[in-house]
Formats: sequence, structure tokens, C-alpha cells
Amino acid sequence: MSARSEIYLDENATTRVLPLAAQEAQSVMEEMYGNPSSSHITGLRARQILESARSVAREVLGAPKGKIVFTSGATEAIQTGIFSALCAIKQQVRELPEGERGLLLYGATEHKAVPQALQHWNSLLEVGCDVVAIPVDFNGQLDLAFLREKIGSARMLCTMAVNNETGAIHDLSAIESIVQSADRPVAWLADCVQAIGKLQLDLSQTSIDYATFSGHKIYAPKGIGVLYVREGAPFTPLIAGGGQEGGARGGTENLPGVAAIAAVLRALLDESSHAFRSSEVLGEYRGRLISSLEQAFPDIEYNTPFEHSVPTTINFAVPGLGSKELLDLFDAAGIRVSSGSACGSAVQGSYVLEAMGLSKWRSDGAIRLSFGPSITAADVESACLRIEEAGVALTRSCLAKTGIEQGINTRQMDGLVQLKNGSDCSWILTSAESGCCVVVEPFEAMLDRIETLVACQGLKVVAVLDSHQHVDHESPREELVQRLTNRGLYEPKETDILGWPAKAEGQLRLGDESQAEFISLSDSLQIAYTELPGHTADGHAFLIGAASEGTLRPNDVRFAFTGDTLLIGGIGRTDFDSSCPELMLRSLRKLPTILSPQSVICPTHDYNLGFVTTLASERKHNCLLSQILDSEFPTVADYLSIKAKVDSEIDDEKNCELVCGLIQNYQDDQNSFNVAPEELHAFFKEHRNSLIVDVREAHEFHFAEDWSAFDLETPPRNVPLTRLGDFLASLLQQEQPEREMIFVCRSGNRSGKAAQVLRRLGIPVAWHIVGGIALGTQPSQAFLDAEEFEYAI
Ligand code: PLP
Repeated sequence: MSARSEIYLDENATTRVLPLAAQEAQSVMEEMYGNPSSSHITGLRARQILESARSVAREVLGAPKGKIVFTSGATEAIQTGIFSALCAIKQQVRELPEGERGLLLYGATEHKAVPQALQHWNSLLEVGCDVVAIPVDFNGQLDLAFLREKIGSARMLCTMAVNNETGAIHDLSAIESIVQSADRPVAWLADCVQAIGKLQLDLSQTSIDYATFSGHKIYAPKGIGVLYVREGAPFTPLIAGGGQEGGARGGTENLPGVAAIAAVLRALLDESSHAFRSSEVLGEYRGRLISSLEQAFPDIEYNTPFEHSVPTTINFAVPGLGSKELLDLFDAAGIRVSSGSACGSAVQGSYVLEAMGLSKWRSDGAIRLSFGPSITAADVESACLRIEEAGVALTRSCLAKTGIEQGINTRQMDGLVQLKNGSDCSWILTSAESGCCVVVEPFEAMLDRIETLVACQGLKVVAVLDSHQHVDHESPREELVQRLTNRGLYEPKETDILGWPAKAEGQLRLGDESQAEFISLSDSLQIAYTELPGHTADGHAFLIGAASEGTLRPNDVRFAFTGDTLLIGGIGRTDFDSSCPELMLRSLRKLPTILSPQSVICPTHDYNLGFVTTLASERKHNCLLSQILDSEFPTVADYLSIKAKVDSEIDDEKNCELVCGLIQNYQDDQNSFNVAPEELHAFFKEHRNSLIVDVREAHEFHFAEDWSAFDLETPPRNVPLTRLGDFLASLLQQEQPEREMIFVCRSGNRSGKAAQVLRRLGIPVAWHIVGGIALGTQPSQAFLDAEEFEYAI
């Protein structure tokens, strides 16, 4: 049990405003509100604040000479620097033919504002230079040999002092000696946004022409930045106007912002303010955080080159865990971090880490933890506790290998788990009764996850099965079997190519009167193996349910793994060499004879976040299937021509993966409650009889909200999306539920998907809260114990 509080470790994205800065801004807004351009005394006071801020900026930046221009932020400062340089370069190159106008160089790991401003102004001003990225090495350092080779043709160079994603420090003096070796002047812009407050800057001792800074990265508000321009460097105002900033930037100055940034800069100069920690102290803090990270994630890999970086950024990845999962885990644990960079939080790989040549999984799975020089020892301590607790939550939910090593005794998992990577679905069906499981459709990206989960729970694996041989990749089935065998969890046996044991337990009669081999998962769960060709010639289905009297009736089938025969909203394609459209027709018509309308169908791919489906739902929403099942095609030839047309519409170029069937979208916008955060309290009281279903994963639910305030009739249930198929199977086998179900999650994204799935499957009492509940509820003061959550994975 630990007390909850929010720990913000995303200071490279933005910082809070320090009280000393907020007070200055407040006083300017309320008392010193004059316009610095006015000549009366109120104006003179305002001007004094502005000029005093400029002089403290000069002192901190080591820039007694040159221009200090207050801007709206670093992006504007970058634009102004690049615009100024390019206006001058345009004059130098305009007589030269295209292709000989020289290079505009920038580091491959610069903030996107830099290359995009270079491209933009180079094209808009018709300068005609070539914009070229300087590669970086494994540590994120610029390739100096490349720079040396190109500097002779360069007109401008843009580099950064410290990288925002990794914290890597760039060697500005090595860069400077190369710049100075050039025969002609090269305009040099240094983006110092992430350096201020962390590194000593002495701009006048360098030949940097333009240096850029941002207030909101050092505890001043958003909307204020600084541009330094070396004395004599070309300058053209980007914003023309009333002559403010000595004509360098038109527009009435943002005086509250200026006063706030000046207050921070003064505190940086004044050790007695005790507002900021030294590099040594920050280094110690980094050490403490690293040790907690390593305790939580023993196989962590760092993307930050620690020998050449500021101590305030730790960029890392954890094998087997995606950045979205880690981000959700940290967020649930009350620690705010980001994936790669905040701008890239949509969770795709990071261009910075890719430029450093890091492997894809490290880039895709990157998490950036960043703090600033105002952090305190107490903040670090609570962050460490939080990180360690997040590790415990992960271990308990069998997502971390530590669970295997520590023999974590989680509650025995029971039922279906769906693991997804993009649209690929791997499935594990377990039986708590027998302690056995079956793995269906293993995909490479999920092998670690499957192995950890099975080993952590100590499950015995009765089979590892593929529904068919995939066209676009070879199944990693053998590798998984080997890993499980090594752990003593699988007993090697002779199988066919799809993993079906050569010696089955016997035969079961299916609903179509055919005989199918079966093996048992437990006394009450049988797995039957039946042919389902079409998508590929070797296609099979696995039907799982409680057989009786040698028969597995359609109504007994709880789960059906039908491969790529039936997709959610579509039908598997049949235009591969190994496909047979006629057999597909037969296989599809076989389905209603062996499955009940409510058997849960688990496809190999889920292209549209539908999770699972049923025949009843597909008949309703999947036109082609209903036409096939209702024999609406007069002849087989009619079906074949329609099917060929549908397959020809699949655009493999557009999708970044090979798609196994054309999918119809299902949209239901009538499933949501719009509840503002401040109304959540009243909403839950009003809906106290409803079943609240929290769809976050168990390791997030571990840090659940405090629900006691809402006086719910029954406590919320945790149904992670990985277990949604299992939850649905139980619901679909009962009478239609009448009780309203309200799905919730942090931001409303996952709960929206879940409610939509229920409605598509014909359960209209499913609702969700748009916008999620994170903003309107209080975190609990205690962590839940493993026993308290239902789906203990
Ligand atoms: N440069 C770097 C290195 C940054 O980290 C950022 C902000 O993310 C910027 C530039 C842009 O700063 P601003 O938000 O002030 O425009």
C-alpha cells in the first residue's frame, strides 16, 4: 500500500511554471501591465522589466553582445534564425545555377521544427539550396567526417546542443572547428532548448550565429522564447510591425512571459535561490531512477548514451513490451512519461532513434523519462517507489519475466486471452480446472509474451496450433514449441504441419455429422480439428467446447478458431496460389452447421479493432457472408465472379501489411454517454445500479480509481481488452443481459471500442463514457492486491 500522487517525469515536453516565475507574471499582469512602447510612466515601468529581462538573458547565455529577441517560443526563434540566414544566402546564390547553390545541413536528430523550417523557407524564398541531413552514430553524435566532407559546400548548418528525446549532448566545439575550417562563412544555428539550465552556455565565446530557447522547457509559461543573434550575423525580421524589439520583431511584447522567464534565469544565476540542482546532484538522481527501473524491468535497454548526455533524460525500451503498454502502465501508476517524444505520442517509432541505427523494437518501444533541474530528492524518491510498484504490477500480471524467476503466485488464469500486434492475433485458451492451455496462431512478435505468460502461470501446453500455413510469413510455431519444451511446459510429440498431434484422443461427431479428431484441454473442454480450406488449401478450424456423448454440438462450441476463413466484417481472400474460392464457399456454408450463432469466432487477424465475432453478427453486418449463407448467388460462377471482384479491391500497397480479406466497417455512434469530468460523480451516483466495466489491463487496474465515493451497487469489474473475447463468450451463453453495462477506461478510447464490440454482437445495453474517467475521478490511496482483480493477467 502506498499513497498516490502524480509524478511528472516529462519535462523535456514541457514543465510546470515555477512559483517564482508565476508570481512575476502575475504581478506584471496585475500591476506592471503597461505597454513597453508607451512613453508614460506605466509604459516606462514595463520597458524597464523588458530590458532587465534582456540583460539577465545576456548574462545566463554568456552573450553581452548581439541581439536578444523575445519570441513566442523556440519554433518562432528557429524560423527567424533560418529565415534571416536564407534571406542573406539567397542574395549570395541567386546568380548560381540550380544544383550548385550549396547545402543547408542539419543533424538527423534535430527537432522537426528545424528541417521543416529549412525546407519551407528554402522553397518559399526560392533559395534553391539542397537540404541535407547529417547522419548520427549509435550515440546520437553527428558524423563529423560527413560534416567535414560537406562543409565546403554548406551555406547553413543547424545543430542542437542537447537532444530532446535522448538527452545526448552534441559536441559544439568539435562542430565549431569544422565550421571554421570552411573557406567561406557558414551560417550556424544552434537549438539550445534542452540545454539551458543543464549545461553552461557561453555564446559569445562561440561562432554560433543563432541560438534558440523556449520558456516552457525551463519552468516559464508557454508562449515565450528567446532568439540570440550574433553581432553582425544577417537578420531579417520575420514579423514586421510596430517596431518593437528594436524592429527585430513586431507586435506588443508578451510581458508576463518575459517577466516569468527572467525570474527563472535570475534563479539560475543565484545559487542562494536553491531553485535548481547541480549536474552532480542530478546525476545522482539519475542513478537512483536507473536502479529502480532496473529493479522493475530487469531486461531494460537504454537508448540514451549515458556518457554523452545530460543527466535529466533516460530513454529506454523493455523487450516484449510496446511503448503504448509501458505508457499506460506508467500513467496508471501516476507517473507521466512519454513515448519517444511528446510529438510522437501517437506511438510510432522515433525518427531520432531510427537515425541512431537502433533496432525497430527499441525505437517502437521507446519510453522517455525526463526531469528538470528543479526536481527534489523527495520527488525522485516517490518516483522510484512508483516505478518499482509498476514493475510489481507487471510481474503479477505475468507480463514480465521476473514473474517466472520469482515464481509469482498469481491467481490461475481461466479462459481466453487475445494477444495482438497490429492486426495479428495470437490466442491462449487456458483451463484453471486442469492447469493446461492451448496456443493458437503464434506470431513472432508475441512469442516472448506467450512464453512469459505460460511459464509464469506454470501452465502445461497441450498443443501449439496454426489454422493454416500463412502466405506472407512462416509460422514461428517450432520456435515456440522449442522454448516451451526447454521450460518443461510442453511434451514433444509428433504433429502435422499445423501442430495437431499425430495421436489424437479420439473422434467427435460435429454438427454436420462429420467425424473430427479431438484432444482435451480439461475434462470439460475438448478441442476438435476440422478441415476448413479455401483461403489456403490446408485451412483448418479448431472448435472448443464441452463435448458430450461423443458429440460436439453447435451449441456446445464456445470458441471457434477459423483462421482467415471468416474475418470480422469480411471473408478471407482467395486469390493466392494456395487458395481455392470454390472450397471457401463450401467452408463458409459449413460454419452454420458446426457452430451456433453465438459461438465466439476468434480470427487470425483483426483489422478494425473488432476483437472477436459471431455468426449471428456476421450474418447481419457482413453482406457477402449473408448472401453466401442465404444462397443468394444463382450459380457458383456468380459467386466466383463477385468474390474475385471483392479480392481485387484489396489494396496491398495502401496497407503496410498483406491483408487477408476486404473488411466492411461497423460504426455505431449511439453507444456513448457524454459526461464532463466534473459531472462524473453525479453520473455514477445516478447509474449506481449499472455494471461498470473497466477495460484497462490488469497491471493498470492494479492502480485503480477510488470507487468508494460513488456508492455503486457492485464494485467495477476489470475486463481488459485482452480478455474481452472471454467475457463475451460468457455473456453470449446467457440470456440477453438486461443490466446496463458502462465501459470505462482512462481516455475513453479503449472503452469506446469495447462498447462497440458488444453492440455489434447484439448486446444493446453496452455504453461507454466519451473522454474517459481519468479527469473526473480520484486515484485510490491503495494498490489493489492481485486477488482483487478478476482477470489476473
Ligand atoms: N527544439 C527542441 C529541441 C525542442 O525540444 C522543442 C520543443 O519540443 C522545440 C525546439 C520547440 O519549442 P517550442 O515549443 O517553444 O516552439
